[in-house]
Amino acid sequence: MAFGKDRDVLKKVTSLREASNISRGRRPKGGGGGGWMRFKDQLKLSTVEADTVRFVPGEYPFTEVLEDGTTQDSLLPYLTFTEHFDGKCHTSGICSAGPYVGYKDKAEPCLGCDIFWESGGKKGGRMSSRDMKAFTVLNLGTFHEVDEVDARGNVKISDKTKKPFTQWVKCSGRRCDACAQGKPTKKGHLQHYAVGYGHFNQIKEYSKTVGQCCKTCRSKDTVREIAYLCPNCKDAVIDISTTHLTNEEIAKMVDGDVQCPHCRQKVLLEEIVECTGSMPNGSSCPEAVRAGIFDVDISFKKVAGPEGTNQSTLMFTGFGPVSEIDPVYDAKPMDFEKMYAPTPLEQQAEKFKAPLPSQTPRQPVPASQVSHAYGGTAGDAVGNQGGGGMFNR
Ligand SMILES: [Zn+2]
Ligand SMILES: [Zn+2]
Ligand SMILES: [Zn+2]
Ligand SMILES: [Zn+2]
Repeated sequence: MAFGKDRDVLKKVTSLREASNISRGRRPKGGGGGGWMRFKDQLKLSTVEADTVRFVPGEYPFTEVLEDGTTQDSLLPYLTFTEHFDGKCHTSGICSAGPYVGYKDKAEPCLGCDIFWESGGKKGGRMSSRDMKAFTVLNLGTFHEVDEVDARGNVKISDKTKKPFTQWVKCSGRRCDACAQGKPTKKGHLQHYAVGYGHFNQIKEYSKTVGQCCKTCRSKDTVREIAYLCPNCKDAVIDISTTHLTNEEIAKMVDGDVQCPHCRQKVLLEEIVECTGSMPNGSSCPEAVRAGIFDVDISFKKVAGPEGTNQSTLMFTGFGPVSEIDPVYDAKPMDFEKMYAPTPLEQQAEKFKAPLPSQTPRQPVPASQVSHAYGGTAGDAVGNQGGGGMFNR
């Protein structure tokens, strides 16, 4: 693990507004395999019935490339990775370019990126390049333990134990085969849920709705913003009681970095909130703290996009009271650094039927000389939502 030792000193981010502002850029570091694990225990939303889940925050290292070419590390509640899908070989892999993806001189080798740029670096080309975010979710539905089968429908047997491999699958409700067969049953199962840009933004938006609840007094609809400060000079950039800005203008300003009119720094504004709720004993709430996506159970399903596309949207059907996760579930964030580790180059060469890049070592490049690869800016050049991703199906 690239970060391992100084994790403790890294900035931990729990708010989705802040986290997404950081990860607008990109990429985790890492190495190794483990890609097969991605296909087990995935949350696959239904278009019929909503799943009720709790998002479980993790602490995943993320390296942000700043405007001056230097980097800054933080810990985000989700893991960010880039998925390449090769429309020619019908296979996918995880980008190995590292934080400097899109920077010709500083990026780590990635065949997916090479093919993406060779074929024009656009949506609809042979190779897609898609920013993904992986969450751990505790699915609060009913699950059954069933035998695992291979692609041909044969039960997979462990060489070691000579017993079938098993996996937990969600009860399909009425007419469920596993129910009929009396398979082992439990409530609640940890799953992973990887989303692209569109679904992530929907989750972020919904987090704002949840954010009207207070984490301290657990009241609903009692938290309001009163000001936005510059974290650098502490000046109030927006005072809600006097501002002439519309709600839309404010929403836009607080969503990403803005230039502080006082100190001229580019900053993500710090929100000051108040809570009108009260504690269970009747006293007024001592400290307003917005709840977020990780503090409530959320019910949502998928709405299919236009026929012939896989551009589905999410439909949130409700959320429960602010609460801790019941410890009986032992809900720990999954080891995404292993699960979503970059696909090793040799494997990429095999999958994409491409030659390995020449093994000339890359010279270290001073930050001031970092050139943007292939003409684009690192931030958005690769940021297309190219089709074909398998994670959202
Ligand atoms: Zn790549
Ligand atoms: Zn069942
Ligand atoms: Zn409160
Ligand atoms: Zn300032």
